[in-house]
Amino acid sequence: MRNDSHLVEQEEVMAYLDGELPVEEAARAAAHLEACHQCQALAAELKDVSLALTAWEIEPCNPQVRADMATALEEQTGVDVVGAGGGRCTAGGGGVT
Ligand SMILES: [Zn+2]
Repeated sequence: MRNDSHLVEQEEVMAYLDGELPVEEAARAAAHLEACHQCQALAAELKDVSLALTAWEIEPCNPQVRADMATALEEQTGVDVVGAGGGRCTAGGGGVT
């Protein structure tokens, strides 16, 4: 399913936003995004989604959930997440789960 009016594929726009494109591909995507309103809209949409996902990921204030997430993160990254980010649970909504 190729739309010839677009010089870059949607996947490339996504990869570009994720910073996963090689330099020259990223330059091509950036140039196209500047000229193509449709891809600008797509990019804005994708940014909103990733922002929403980020907000969703940090939303839980349940200490057990935080501990589980921290453990999982520590296993993946080897970073002491609890020590580095402790006490950042400022928003309401705790105790729901
Ligand atoms: Zn386009």
